[in-house]
Amino acid sequence: MEIKEEYFHLLRRAEQNTSNGLIEMVREQPARLQDERTPLAELMEFILRTALQERASDIHFEPLEQEVRIRLRINGQMKPFFQNMPWQLYGNLLSRLKIICGLDIAERRLPQDGRFSFSLQKGKNLDVRVSIVPMINGEKIVLRLLNNQDSFKSLEQLDFSSVNYELLRQKCSSGSGAVLLSGPVNSGKTTALYGILSLLNREGNNIISIEDPVEYRIEGVNQIQVNEKIGYTFEMALRAVLRQDFDCLAVGELRSMETADMLITSALTGRRVFATIHTPGAVKTVFRLLDMGIKPYLLVSAVSLIVGQRLVKRLCPYCRVVYSPEAAGAESSFLGEQAGGRSAVLYRHRKGGCAMCGYTGYGGRIAVQEVLSMDGGVAEAVMGGAKADDLEAVAMKCGMIAMRQDGIEKALAGELELAELMRLF
Ligand SMILES: [Zn+2]
Repeated sequence: MEIKEEYFHLLRRAEQNTSNGLIEMVREQPARLQDERTPLAELMEFILRTALQERASDIHFEPLEQEVRIRLRINGQMKPFFQNMPWQLYGNLLSRLKIICGLDIAERRLPQDGRFSFSLQKGKNLDVRVSIVPMINGEKIVLRLLNNQDSFKSLEQLDFSSVNYELLRQKCSSGSGAVLLSGPVNSGKTTALYGILSLLNREGNNIISIEDPVEYRIEGVNQIQVNEKIGYTFEMALRAVLRQDFDCLAVGELRSMETADMLITSALTGRRVFATIHTPGAVKTVFRLLDMGIKPYLLVSAVSLIVGQRLVKRLCPYCRVVYSPEAAGAESSFLGEQAGGRSAVLYRHRKGGCAMCGYTGYGGRIAVQEVLSMDGGVAEAVMGGAKADDLEAVAMKCGMIAMRQDGIEKALAGELELAELMRLF
């Protein structure tokens, strides 16, 4: 209630004070959000701070016919935040944001991207990535709050089971070859990539990463922001960095055959290569690469490891509720052999949560993973032209813990709700 009142108070103040336009604020250099204490800046700061408190990852400003709605993405789900931002005020806010990001305020028909930094307290900044896309009712803004909770974690904090963690740590820190991180949109692959880079980020290593966009800055890693607009593409950056004497190369997303080809070549010349790829799982990634035209013998010699990952809501450890699934219910059949000898004890969120989880019952998100090691029987099966199901079976026989299994282990440990996991499989 209080938050709402404060919002409306700031909204009204901003409305009264910004009707005379923003032209005077235009400047050569991108400004910082808090350079001027205008009512509009105050409103914007209030929205950002409140979103941070709510542990949101994104803020959406959605133009409806009459007004603009603001929604937040919290724990992966969209939640209503504020309604009723009047159009004129929204127009001013949009212009202000474009100025802060150094974008073209006159451009209203084409998408624009930018970023700005927001000082939270002394020495602590919040980086915000801005995407503006024209919709039928007007331009929609999505702000991604970059260093809020999920965006940067060390390898230890990435939810890998101890077996998978050890495998990943070993393959990433010694030897050569490519490590691929696969998953759909919002599956935490980029966060995992950053976790690995931070592990390798030592004085003796020259690490170059090519990203679009750079989501988090890591001191000591040479990060390249590609810029398709001026023709600085992934491929161009890749060709150029081959002469930059690197030990480790990371590529934000493996999309084209040309990128894949260059990565494979680099991996084969004894360098460590990391890339994210948009596929639903580790085994599927193998077939995606084959479909791209990569020869099986090159794939098995260049790729050392493929990680598949998804995110689900993490249960709040302070208020989760223990229960036993019905003996013949859907949950028991999903658990199957897994729960085996153990008397299955599961956990679910408490409705209304507790103070520790902001009364939601959940606390952020947790990854469920599978790690496919490209050697032994798996390599033989790929060379032998195995089909997807067969390859999965071989991989599991060789010790891969499938994502579903990993998720079940985490559900039995009380880290996630089985119902959440069942939605994925
Ligand atoms: Zn709680």
